[in-house]
Amino acid sequence: MRSVLLGLLAVVLMGVAAPAAAGAGRCGSHPWCATALSPDARAGRLLEALTPAERISLLGGDELSGVLGGAGKHTGTSDGIPRLDLPTLYMSDGPAGTRQGSATAMPAPIALGASFDRATASRYGALVADEVRKKGNDLVFAPTLDIMRTPLGGRTFESFGEDPFLTGTLGTSWVQAAQRQGVIATVKHVAANNQEGKLPEGVTAEDAIIRPIAVGSRLTVNANVDARTLREIYLAPYEAAIINGHAGAAMCSYNRLNGPFACENDALLNGILRKDWGFQGPVIADYGAVHDTVAALNGGLDLEPWPGFMLGSAAVTAAVQAGTVTQTTVDRSVRRILRMMFASGMFDRAAYRDDDTQIDQQGHARQARTVAESGTVLLENRGLLPLKTKGLTSVALIGVGADTFRNGGGSSKVVPFRTVTLRQALATRLGAGVDVRYDPGTDPASAAAVAKGADVAVVVGVDSSSEGGDRRCLRLSCADGLGDQDAVIDAVAAANRKTIVVLQTAGPVLTPWRDRVQALLEAWYPGQSGGEAITRVLLGDAEPGGRLPTTFPKRAQDEGTSGDVQTYPGVKDQVRYKEGVLVGYRWFDSARIVPAYPFGAGLSYTSWRYHDLRVHRSRGRAPATVSVRVTNTGRRSGSDVAQLYVGIPALRGLLQPVRQLKGFRRVALRPGRSARVTFALTPRDLAAWDTKRSRFTVQRGCYPVRVGRSSRNFVLKGRLPVAGGRC
Ligand code: BGC
Repeated sequence: MRSVLLGLLAVVLMGVAAPAAAGAGRCGSHPWCATALSPDARAGRLLEALTPAERISLLGGDELSGVLGGAGKHTGTSDGIPRLDLPTLYMSDGPAGTRQGSATAMPAPIALGASFDRATASRYGALVADEVRKKGNDLVFAPTLDIMRTPLGGRTFESFGEDPFLTGTLGTSWVQAAQRQGVIATVKHVAANNQEGKLPEGVTAEDAIIRPIAVGSRLTVNANVDARTLREIYLAPYEAAIINGHAGAAMCSYNRLNGPFACENDALLNGILRKDWGFQGPVIADYGAVHDTVAALNGGLDLEPWPGFMLGSAAVTAAVQAGTVTQTTVDRSVRRILRMMFASGMFDRAAYRDDDTQIDQQGHARQARTVAESGTVLLENRGLLPLKTKGLTSVALIGVGADTFRNGGGSSKVVPFRTVTLRQALATRLGAGVDVRYDPGTDPASAAAVAKGADVAVVVGVDSSSEGGDRRCLRLSCADGLGDQDAVIDAVAAANRKTIVVLQTAGPVLTPWRDRVQALLEAWYPGQSGGEAITRVLLGDAEPGGRLPTTFPKRAQDEGTSGDVQTYPGVKDQVRYKEGVLVGYRWFDSARIVPAYPFGAGLSYTSWRYHDLRVHRSRGRAPATVSVRVTNTGRRSGSDVAQLYVGIPALRGLLQPVRQLKGFRRVALRPGRSARVTFALTPRDLAAWDTKRSRFTVQRGCYPVRVGRSSRNFVLKGRLPVAGGRC
C-alpha cells in the first residue's frame, strides 16, 4: 500500500500536519456545552451557530498523508472550527491495532473469531482503543464485520469468520469495550464487501489496493445479493453491533451493492441503516469510495475522510448552489457528525495526547499473547501434544514463519512494537539443553535432512494475504515466493514420525497431509507475541483455546462459491451471490459435503462431557432458553466452547440452512468440575427474513436444537416449540 500511495500523494501533498490540540474544558461556555442536554440537542445548537460554509467544511477530511501510517499523523483528520471551539476529529485504523507508527500488533481478527469468546473480544477491542486514544485519536476504523464468503477473500484474516451470529456477537463486545475507552468504533465495511478481486498473473494485492486491476475488484464490482441473504448473513453483524453495541459510526464499502455504490446507496444507508435500524451516527466513506458528490450526500453518506475531495468544500458548495443537494441534506449530515462527537464526550474532555509513552507496551504484549493462545486451534493430535520436555534433546524447526513476523497486508497491517518469533521463544523456553535446529523449509530435501535426526519436527506453514487482492488458491504452495510447502510437510513427515504442523494462515487452507502428521495447530497470523503463544501451547503451558470460525474444506471445489465465475469472482464486474444464505457450514451441511475440519471444531488437552440438556419452551414470542451441563472429565484444567445450533423451519417453502449457530459459550473448568451453560434465544435469533413482508418473522413450529462441540459434533439433541408450535 505504502509504495502506491506514496507516488499518488507526492503530487498532492501539502506537507501540513495538524498538531493535536491539548487542554481541558475545550467546549467553552457556548450554549451547546451544557452537558445536561442530549447529544442531539447539543448538536442542534451548535449546528445553528455554524455558517453554511463551516457546515460544509465538516464533510470532507483535511489531511492526506496520514493514510501512510507514519508516526505523529492520523489515518484521517477532519479539522475543527476554532472560532466555535469545535475540536478536530482524529481517526485511525484499525482492526488489528493502530496504524500510526508502531503499535501492539494483535493476532489477526480471525484468531479472535476463533476464540469464540465475548470476554476476549472485549479485551481486544479495549486494547486497540486504548492505543488509538494514546496516539491522539478519537475514532477507530474497526472492527471489520464482513463475513468470509469465500476463503480466497484477501481480507479473510481481518474478519471473524463465516458466521453472522459469531461475527455480530464478538463485534458487539468489541465495539462496546472500545467505546468504553472513550473511542468511537466504526463498523466496516457496509456492505457485501466480500472479495478484493482475482489478481491477474504478475500483479500483487498491494498493487491492486487502489487500482481496479483485479477481476471483480472491490473498487468496481457490483454485488448482486438477494434481500434475504443480505439481511440474514451479510448485514446481520452490523445490525447487532449497531443496535446492541451502539457503534458510533459505520464505514461504507468500495463495492456497488445491487446497483449503486455502497457509499451512494439510498436503500442501504437511508433505508436499512437509518430507517430500519435507527442508526443515528454518521456513515463514513472508505478511502476513495465516493464517486459522485450528489449521489453520496443524497444517498446517506456523511463524511469522506480521505481524500476529502468529493465531499470537499468546493464540490459540495457547487452542488448546493446548483440545487442538486439541499442545505437540509448537508445539515442532516453535519448534525450526525456533531451528534456522534457529543455522544462520545469529545467536547467535554481534553484532546487525547499522541504519546506512545502512555502505552503499557509490556502489558499489551502479554495480552496479545493471551489472545493468540485463545485463538489457536488444535485440529489433530495423535497423542504428541502437549510435548513432554523430559528426555527432549532436539527439535527441528522448519519454515520461514518460525523465524519471521508475518501479518496480513493492507490497512490492518500493524508495525509491531516488538516481536517474538517461534524460533526465539522455543529456544528460550527449552533452554540450552535442547538443540533447536532451524531450516527455512524452502527445499523439501534439506528440510527432511534437518528433521531426520531430531526428536520432534515442527513445520510452520504460512500463506500470504492482503487487502487489494484475493488469495490465488487455498494450497500452501500459493504463498508468494515460498515454494511448495505441502511437499516440505510431506518430506518432513516421511523423515520424522513425530511431525507437528503449525499453520499461520489468513483462513482455511487445504491440508492434504493431515493424516500423515502427529499434530496440527492453526495459529492464524498470531500477532507480535505469536512465537510465545505457540510455544506455550505446544508445551502445554497454555491450552489451545480456539475453535474454527470457518470451515476447512477437503478440496477447493467443495466451497459454495467455486466452479462458477458468475458466483466468484464475477463477470464484467457483476458478482452473483447464487449460494444465497448457504455460506460456510450452511453450504457444506445442505450439500452434504464432509469438510476436512468443520466450523466450530477444535480439540482440547482435556476431555469433556455434555449432559442434562434442558429446553425451555417459548411462550408466544418470549425468548426461549436452552441449557446444558458441561463437565471437565480429564486430568487438566481447560476450557471448551459449548455451541448451540438451531434449525429454523422453512418459510413458504424457502430453502433453509439445516442448522445455524445461535449460541456459544466458553467454559473454563478445573478437572472434575462442571457448570451449567445457558443460552438465551431472542425472537431475532429464531427469526427468518420474510421477503414478502420485508421483515424478520418468527414462525410457529418445532425447531430442532443441537448442542455440541462443533457444527458436526452434536452431543445432545432436543426440540423447541416456538410461537405456539408443537413438538
Ligand atoms: C480500507 C479501510 C481502511 C482505509 C483507511 C481502505 O483501503 O478498505 O478498511 O480503513 O483504507 O486506511
